[in-house]
Amino acid sequence: MEQKLQELKVRLAEINDLNGAIALLNWDQATYMPPGGAAARGRQMSTISKLAHTKLTDAAVGKLLDDLQAYADSLPYDSDDAGLIRVTRHDYEKATKIPPQLLADFYSHSAAAYQVWTVARPQNDFAAVRPLLEKSVDLSRQIAECFPGYEHIADPLIDFSDQGMRANTVQTLFAKLRDQLVPLAEAITAQDPIDDSCLRQHYPETPQFDFGIAAIKDYGYDFDRGRQDKTHHPFMTKFSLGDVRITTRANENNLSEALFSTLHEAGHALYEQGINMDFEGSPLAEGTSAGVHESQSRLWENMVGRSLNFWQHYYPKLQAAFPQQLATVPLTTFYKAINKVQRSLIRTDADEVTYNLHVMIRFDLELALLEGSLAVKDLPEAWHARYQSDLGMRAPNDIDGVLQDVHWYGGFVGGAFQGYTLGNIMSALFYDQAVKAHPEIPTEIAAGQFGTLHTWLRENIYRYGRKFTANELIERTTGSPLTIEPYMNYLRSKFGSIYNL
Ligand code: ZN
Repeated sequence: MEQKLQELKVRLAEINDLNGAIALLNWDQATYMPPGGAAARGRQMSTISKLAHTKLTDAAVGKLLDDLQAYADSLPYDSDDAGLIRVTRHDYEKATKIPPQLLADFYSHSAAAYQVWTVARPQNDFAAVRPLLEKSVDLSRQIAECFPGYEHIADPLIDFSDQGMRANTVQTLFAKLRDQLVPLAEAITAQDPIDDSCLRQHYPETPQFDFGIAAIKDYGYDFDRGRQDKTHHPFMTKFSLGDVRITTRANENNLSEALFSTLHEAGHALYEQGINMDFEGSPLAEGTSAGVHESQSRLWENMVGRSLNFWQHYYPKLQAAFPQQLATVPLTTFYKAINKVQRSLIRTDADEVTYNLHVMIRFDLELALLEGSLAVKDLPEAWHARYQSDLGMRAPNDIDGVLQDVHWYGGFVGGAFQGYTLGNIMSALFYDQAVKAHPEIPTEIAAGQFGTLHTWLRENIYRYGRKFTANELIERTTGSPLTIEPYMNYLRSKFGSIYNL
């Protein structure tokens, strides 16, 4: 048995190496690669990912898993070996159930759809992407149908990024959230808008980056096992547990962009850097789901990084870095500016209160497309109608409407959005548990100390990697299933005091 387990681990380590190489090629493409490298780079990544897929779907892997199942069953659920075998079987079945031709068709179709979208969006030309989007819906359905036994056609697609979550549970949770968020957003936006002009002065790039780096070092981001580079669209990536990188960009006319995207990506990176080093080279060595990942980026960006406690410590430092811009701006003005709530049409620019409304609109529309209750031709109008009812706004075009996000034009229709809001809900759940265990956390944050919070998160979430699913982590830390209450309490308390509700 020991020998078979070793053989499995050797095979998995090779797959892990190939995936690390793809991530490195991808990181290089997004940071330093000259434009002339694009064509070959696409080919190189596709060659290596085919190799990784072939190695994972090798019948020998299936045989090893079968041979090891009795051993896995004899172990406690939380043992590392049982977790490894469980997660590998999950990945193996995912990879083998989809016919290779269907997957190849999907990848070449989404590459084509993405190309058309990049041209169609600036031209407000939904008609150009419509047939491609229809085919994306069709292919997404076909891929979902490779996993019979689902309750909802979206379930297998949701499971790709948020394992164990189901369309119906997410819908129920989101409906409750929407019922409370829509009136909260209405009450806030009925008031005079906050003046956030202090953020929109000229802020040179270098001190912006220096400030962000100092803050995330304090968070506990380990620069001996990571680095930060510039890119167009900030992201976190990992080549191994010893090399977890983040990227950022600065806008010299808006202080909040680099600052909060740095804190956000650092949150993702703290999660990956906190995984048990014994999992290196195995499929356990990754964050467990899109939702849990986003819970960590949002926790460090918003619950910590946009809190009054945090800025009690850091605002004098920020003022020292930008004396001309901020010396005469009081802390409360700055704090309100970085937490300004406003109705907007663009998801990625949205504040903490309205952000989830944008996400839930997309989630519901995805489900309707997959169910067949909404036709692609009716999607632009359905989009506008939901923005009108949930956010009280209507985009003047499809550029800021249905053409806004890349997700449907470069991947599955289904499963792409729920993770953002699940992450927000979970961020409050986990933070609450940490504070229950260590009530001194908020005071420590006000002193620029994050060790207690970071340690709690590492001990209860990070170190497990993929050994437990999101639902299992929630059960283990809170003793109950996912609920919106802590998140709504957080939003009500924070924005209630900012807006005197
Ligand atoms: Zn994120």
